[in-house]
Amino acid sequence: MTRLKPTKYKELEAELIAALTAQYVLSSVVDLAVYECDGESMDVAIPDLVVLPSSTEDVQKVMQLANKYKVPVTARGAGTGLSGGATAIMGGICLVLTRMSKVMAVDADEFYAHVQVGVTNVAVSQAAAKHSLYFAPDPSSQIASTIGGNIAENAGGAHTLKYGLTTNNVLGVKVVLANGDITTFGGAVRDSLGLDLVGVFVGSEGTIGIATEAWVRLIPRAQAVETMLAYFPSVEKGGQAVSDIVAHGVIPAAMEMIDKLTLNCVEDSLSLGLNRQAEALLIVEIDGPNAGIATERETVEQCVRAHGCMEITWASDEKQRASIWKARKMSFGALGRLAPHGYVLDGVIPRSKLSEAINEIAVIGKRHEVLIANVYHAGDGNLHPCLLFNRDNEEQVKQVLLASKEILEMCVRLGGTLSGEHGIGVEKIGQMSFAFAEADLDAMRTLRSAFDPDLILNPGKLVPTPKSCGESGARPLLRHRLSAC
Ligand SMILES: Cc1cc2nc3c(=O)[nH]c(=O)nc-3n(C[C@H](O)[C@H](O)[C@H](O)COP(=O)(O)OP(=O)(O)OC[C@H]3O[C@@H](n4cnc5c(N)ncnc54)[C@H](O)[C@@H]3O)c2cc1C
Repeated sequence: MTRLKPTKYKELEAELIAALTAQYVLSSVVDLAVYECDGESMDVAIPDLVVLPSSTEDVQKVMQLANKYKVPVTARGAGTGLSGGATAIMGGICLVLTRMSKVMAVDADEFYAHVQVGVTNVAVSQAAAKHSLYFAPDPSSQIASTIGGNIAENAGGAHTLKYGLTTNNVLGVKVVLANGDITTFGGAVRDSLGLDLVGVFVGSEGTIGIATEAWVRLIPRAQAVETMLAYFPSVEKGGQAVSDIVAHGVIPAAMEMIDKLTLNCVEDSLSLGLNRQAEALLIVEIDGPNAGIATERETVEQCVRAHGCMEITWASDEKQRASIWKARKMSFGALGRLAPHGYVLDGVIPRSKLSEAINEIAVIGKRHEVLIANVYHAGDGNLHPCLLFNRDNEEQVKQVLLASKEILEMCVRLGGTLSGEHGIGVEKIGQMSFAFAEADLDAMRTLRSAFDPDLILNPGKLVPTPKSCGESGARPLLRHRLSAC
């Protein structure tokens, strides 16, 4: 896509202001800098304009103008993404949807909520709480991240093991297409006939259309919840316990692990009374009807004890449960004590390969002299190694990029894949050909261009083009300069 001359941007800005008022069209250097990246701070690029719509009709006007001027549009929710998805790497318009934050309806009979996409994940569950219902996907970022961002990234969370990813919990989406047309995929009931366009849209990272409203599934709160904290003398033993619990027929709502480095950082930050001697901390949460929960609890306890667990605590009340979860949910924040920047990976491996993968991550970290802390959704083999570094140290950044590439390729080699929940964005676009055959990538390109023939929507993300690494028109990214794509 050829870049617009600055004078043309002035014309576009004037038309956007006429459509949305000046207050919601930002162009000053200071305002634009706020939107230079998402939670993946390696990739930084300033958009040319930031636009904050308040309705589907506003979004439609923006897309019509983007089409007229052929400028890229990068949708943005809260900007908590961890793969550079909301970073406007080709410039153009950054379309921020956080003003569209209404919960329009909660239907307690049909178990769904109808929301605008800028609403936060947690606000949906709060709105449904008076009916004892909630929205199951629970990314650790849920107090900030938006439903639109969750849909675009197919977000998961600690409870994905039992309740699925966002795609399993979305019934319909209202979308503004690249040409400005408004359409609805699914609705209050997910279509069971025809092509599954909701399925196509969820996880499309802003490349197929801009979601403006969504119908999301609500589920009833379980009658009983039991949460256990267990410490292990090695990650290997913790991993074996995880496999054993599933092999015994128990599907916990969540099984989450953190390693010793992370555990100690959390303890330094929050003083929760964690056991610093342990090599791994495992959280297992089971839930379901009152009848049967005691048996599951017994099975879980037997499994962890059989694998050399050092100490077990079951939460005795909500306060203790919240404190156990704090150890996991605050872990990335706590790692900020060790380095100014953290690069969180999102590889997936078969659950049974957990200890093999962890050992290999340690070897890779050592080879590149990169400090790596590990946080895992152990139950579904979703690893989040966090590579700690300083972005101002170019040699360190280079080693971090090389190590991260090796780790993700190792995940694919072990039978897993490049991402469990954070998406591809710009971060992993260079590695898509490692996980997919050229024919698969061609099918994705064909599908994408059927919706967006001019590639206006989030160019340079998710689906690689032959020029994706430092693609023409792209802002100069650190990762491209250090040639690690
Ligand atoms: C501390 C921390 C913890 C996290 N924990 C988790 C976790 O447990 N599980 C998990 O899955 N993720 C996690 N994440 C990553 C992130 O929060 C999720 O990817 C989340 O879904 C992003 O939502 P957002 O509103 O911030 O989207 P953004 O980051 O703003 O955007 C993400 C992508 O969605 C696109 N997009 C946004 N809105 C729309 C829309 N309306 N229409 C079309 N495209 C759109 C953007 O273009 C971009 O590609 C975590 C992030 C942080 C910082």
